Amino acid sequence: MDTIMVLKFGGSSVADNRKLELVAKRITKIYDKGNRVVVVLSAQGKTTDKLINEAKELSNNVPSRELDALLSCGEQMSTAKLSILLNYMGYPSISLTGWQAGILTNNNNQNANIIKINTSRILKELNENKIVIITGFQGIDENLDITTLGRGGSDTTAIAIAAALHAKNCYIFSDVDGVYTADPNKIENAKKIENLSYEEMMQLSSEGAKVLHNRCVEIGEKFKIPIITKSTFNEEKGTVISDKIEENKVKSIIKKEVSRVSIIGNGIIRNFDLIKEIIDFIKKKNLELLNFEISETKISIVFKSIIDDENVRELHELIF
Ligand code: ASP
Ligand code: MG
Repeated sequence: MDTIMVLKFGGSSVADNRKLELVAKRITKIYDKGNRVVVVLSAQGKTTDKLINEAKELSNNVPSRELDALLSCGEQMSTAKLSILLNYMGYPSISLTGWQAGILTNNNNQNANIIKINTSRILKELNENKIVIITGFQGIDENLDITTLGRGGSDTTAIAIAAALHAKNCYIFSDVDGVYTADPNKIENAKKIENLSYEEMMQLSSEGAKVLHNRCVEIGEKFKIPIITKSTFNEEKGTVISDKIEENKVKSIIKKEVSRVSIIGNGIIRNFDLIKEIIDFIKKKNLELLNFEISETKISIVFKSIIDDENVRELHELIF
């Protein structure tokens, strides 16, 4: 039997009509070999950023349900456009939104987790020999409200679909052709890595390498699906992330920018109400911690990534 191939294309790979044509060519080449093809797309270019900014311009208190209703539109546009193009080229294809593709999530808007995927619609369309194009980054919760999976979440959609369809592997196409021994934009001799274990990739992601959405690698590991990152625009070999472990081989060096926030005042260590308020704030904001230390005169918080000044402003408001 033919195999199911899951191919995900990132936002810069589908940024305009010309790029959509290149993507369509890649897809049809694989389809013509007799594979059943499922495509997952991001929104075009900077669409998601643009939508977020527009919402913020309208309100300083955007309801999280409505934000997801808005953000999910980006992927609906890219998938519909690709399907229009493929059909025009003579290839039967259909675009499916998260809910049409049966992607059920919890109701954690802007950071929802996929709970399960009902693959019946996808399989029906594949059985009719269609190329199935699914919106990345979105699903539906049990109240039938639209959710999104967190920035960069289309990678996670792709691997979850690959797992649900028992695909042999999951291709992640983008404007970089793989994972490098260091950031190639900053270190000129950085070399592409051929193989990474899931664990190594998770370490890289948590140290700030923006290659794959973190949950994507977790799901890949759980269901033992190799993730292959490749460039949309050339035929170079990419990086394979799988359970292959290469002992004693150093893979990468990485620098990470973090935010450290300190709150100072004598006897702060005994101000339990303040400490509790700060902890609640961090939880409410979903900020990830690297370290939290309290001394006689200082609470020192190190966040996993750079946090917005807005957070510091709110913390200041809370304390003073
Ligand atoms: N469009 C979403 C974002 O920009 C999801 C994705 O691209 O994976 O974060
Ligand atoms: Mg991405």
